[in-house]
Amino acid sequence: MKGKIKIEEELCKQCGLCINWCSKKIIATSKKLNLKGYFPAVLKAKDKCTGCALCAIICPEVAIEVYRE
Ligand code: SF4
Ligand code: SF4
Repeated sequence: MKGKIKIEEELCKQCGLCINWCSKKIIATSKKLNLKGYFPAVLKAKDKCTGCALCAIICPEVAIEVYRE
């Protein structure tokens, strides 16, 4: 299964849960601050996302949307 995610960077509070829970370990922390002063999560390997949605389920800020292809 292939998927892709969209992270709403301005909603992210850098809790790190999606980074730890991603089944493929393909989410990392951005080097750029968002407007709230957090380094938001970013997807680093788009082609490896399975669309499993673990990251979206675990995100307390509901900052991640998942699309399956
Ligand atoms: S949908 Fe699954 S594989 Fe894709 S980024 Fe989220 S946790 Fe990782
Ligand atoms: S789980 Fe949500 S709030 Fe936490 S780092 Fe990931 S995107 Fe940001």
